[in-house]
Amino acid sequence: EESQASLTDSDLLQVANGLQHEPSSESSSTKDDESNPTKKRRTTPLHLYRWGYLCVTDICSQSWCEQQMVYGYAPPGDVEVVESAQMKKGATMHRERELEVHDIVPIKVSSAEDSWAVKLLNMIAQVTMLQRGQKCVREIHVFGEPFDMGVFIVGVIDELRYSDQGQFELLDFKTRGTKSVPSKSQQRKESLQVCLYKRLFDDMVLGKLKKESILKHLRRNPDKPLGEEIVEYGKNVGIACTTFGELLDMALLLMAHSDVPCIDGLKIEYRCQDDEDSFMTKPVEYDDKMLRRELGHYFDFWKGDREVEGVQIEEAWKCGKCPYADLCDWRKKKEAEIKSKLLHK
Ligand code: SF4
Repeated sequence: EESQASLTDSDLLQVANGLQHEPSSESSSTKDDESNPTKKRRTTPLHLYRWGYLCVTDICSQSWCEQQMVYGYAPPGDVEVVESAQMKKGATMHRERELEVHDIVPIKVSSAEDSWAVKLLNMIAQVTMLQRGQKCVREIHVFGEPFDMGVFIVGVIDELRYSDQGQFELLDFKTRGTKSVPSKSQQRKESLQVCLYKRLFDDMVLGKLKKESILKHLRRNPDKPLGEEIVEYGKNVGIACTTFGELLDMALLLMAHSDVPCIDGLKIEYRCQDDEDSFMTKPVEYDDKMLRRELGHYFDFWKGDREVEGVQIEEAWKCGKCPYADLCDWRKKKEAEIKSKLLHK
């Protein structure tokens, strides 16, 4: 059985937190911003709330309620958001499922480049396993700049597998408290998520993802020497690299020249948290136009080209279970608009 390099969540968090604090001196807006494009760029939501790039989960949260997502990064007041038992159970089920197909080998990381090197090593290992005939791999890192729209996104695909008919499929795994069909909004969010995964993965195997784009958006140093444990792990799996740039070259080359195809089909599997029964698997049709349109709208916010938006009136039911409802500016604005319309009727 092959083991697979993987960071623990807390390792990732430490590296991520370090990065978030690093550029903080450049994050606040100053008078010089107008004359300094770099500083101006760093005052956009993409740099204020994230690290200059997004995760697929950001896009999912954004499609649910953009205002709620922003409050998640910058709470409007003293709001305590606790992880529900349902969320914890979902995370545990995800992790158990991952461990069914590979082991976790914790690797010490000492820089952001190391953290990315682990992702690349994971990716190389998984593509190699698929090439050697393994039918299924889980927790596959993907990243890229979809549609060349200037925003870099990273994500992790739950599962890639060859079906009995030889189709190369992506399976996203969802857990639910009850054996019920998700709401239309939930389904829209999930469809967007898997379509985005496909786009990112396909761009990688088609050789569209460029080294320059990765280095530019992640602001990583290609000459940074890799940590000892990473170099050692790489050697064990036949990869002799000493710098981040070398490993990146190798990973991109391998992806683009492997015989792993683009993803043929997208599916979402739902499991009930009570009995862990897989009660529904739903196919999703890839929709390139929808994906481009939706991302374009979301990216406009991240680039600072439009203000944040909350939910529209038809989806006001979401506010009922939102922890920020009492303090939400968008909600107050909408309520005031409705009152004013009623008064002027
Ligand atoms: Fe979004 Fe409604 Fe929550 Fe405001 S109250 S953040 S509009 S869900």
